[in-house]
Amino acid sequence: MEIKYFAFLKHLIRFNRQVYFDHNATTPISSHVQGKMNQVLKNHYGNPSSFYGSGRKSAELVEQARKHISQAIHADPSEVIFTACATESNNAVLKSVAAHFYPTRKKIVSTPIEHPSVLNTLAYLETQGVIVEYCPVDNKGRVRLAELEKLIDEDTFLVCCILANNETGVIQDIKAVTNIAKKHGALVLTDCVQALGKIPIDLHAWDVDYASFSAHKLYGPKGIGALYIKQNSPFTPLLHGGHQESGLRAGTESIHNIVGFGAACEDVDKLLAHGRSVQKLKRKLIQRLKEIKPDCVINSPETDCLPNTLSITFPGVENAGLMGMLDFRGIAVSAGSACSTGEDTPSHVLKAIGVSDQAARETIRISLGRDTSAGDIQYMTQVVRDYIEGRVSFVNMLTPAQLNENILFDKKTFILDVRPGDDRKQFKGLPNSHQVNPLRVEHYLKQIPRDNNILVYCPGGGLSVMISYYLKAKGYKRVTNLRGGLDGWRKRRSDLYEKYAGQNVTILEPDITN
Ligand code: PLP
Repeated sequence: MEIKYFAFLKHLIRFNRQVYFDHNATTPISSHVQGKMNQVLKNHYGNPSSFYGSGRKSAELVEQARKHISQAIHADPSEVIFTACATESNNAVLKSVAAHFYPTRKKIVSTPIEHPSVLNTLAYLETQGVIVEYCPVDNKGRVRLAELEKLIDEDTFLVCCILANNETGVIQDIKAVTNIAKKHGALVLTDCVQALGKIPIDLHAWDVDYASFSAHKLYGPKGIGALYIKQNSPFTPLLHGGHQESGLRAGTESIHNIVGFGAACEDVDKLLAHGRSVQKLKRKLIQRLKEIKPDCVINSPETDCLPNTLSITFPGVENAGLMGMLDFRGIAVSAGSACSTGEDTPSHVLKAIGVSDQAARETIRISLGRDTSAGDIQYMTQVVRDYIEGRVSFVNMLTPAQLNENILFDKKTFILDVRPGDDRKQFKGLPNSHQVNPLRVEHYLKQIPRDNNILVYCPGGGLSVMISYYLKAKGYKRVTNLRGGLDGWRKRRSDLYEKYAGQNVTILEPDITN
């Protein structure tokens, strides 16, 4: 099934080139890391808690990795524990430190541009009585230190400030944050996930108390994080069980992942040195994009910014359509808004720096990596140029809120359901829709009327946008994609879903002579 699926996608993507510009989401695993992990998977299955030879060997591998990580962040190995991910690291610190201080001290001061793993944990802590205050940032996302100073008081037990932001790349002056926090006896947590491997990190010099890390952002494996806990800082484990990680994080160690994380950290100096050429490519990219769209707005700061990260707004160009086209041409970028609810919820980070909701819908994030080449920049900017200058045909976008009875029952609209079978089993489809096998769309073309408006939908709006572009390429004039898919529509228009879903659905048969 999977092979068929990829073959189909390959067939859809006429320009079979794959370019990855989303390194802040995750990175490909490096061959050095992969080699080390394979060795562990093959040869070292001993449990590090066992006293016999193979157990001792595994324990040694874990300690070597811990050493590599602590060297990369300027910490002592005894101050680093392994977790499953940075989300866990952030949760563990926030919940543990709150439990330690509350109710003697009640307040955490943070920023509005933290990662959801911090923001949602803070929201949870608020339900438990903790007071959370957010320090404003300027229009480039830099924490206003004077405001921070005013917000921190004797009731504040923790200041939580992200080192480098995942969306815009803005870097904070953590040493200055720590200095202010310490004056009032508050501890400091900094999320260093995006920074490791991109800018130098010196936790001892900055005097922070806690810091979180994740391997998959620096060419390491997914499912492994780390947490720095400064010596003698309060910490209660999130997970109770065995005595692993000095009793601070129970659970048998994921040795291959830990070794992979250590190997990724061995490459940190090389990555930092390479940052200069990544930055050059980013400058080139900005220059080209400005030539294509002189009114584009760069949301990432010019200085104090990750070398690889660019948040850019193209006024008048909806990001969903642009991303669909980029994806169609094999280029991965991410949006300045989250489509999880089916509507473009403007990103909290862009909002915090004063970007309007509309501009957020016209914003994409491009994050370069160590293998990004000048050719990749050339290719992507050409695709952007073709799109912006109207040399490619557009797919219309419909939000879930816009999908009403007029469209659902419009005789001139042909509703094409390209959901996979498991979603169809779980949820009824749009009324008057026509189900096709999404892997074999080419076998239904004779049955999809060319003179109608075609409304394409899938569960989340991703596959359907690609199929929409495919139909465009096949000469269909009016193709519309349901942004956010059935999922978004069910949430947004549950009234219509309850009333009409599943009515008058037609299952089309593939035309195999085609
Ligand atoms: N913090 C930041 C800044 C991130 O970018 C991410 C991942 O996107 C996380 C935390 C969460 O990391 P993980 O995927 O390891 O849970």
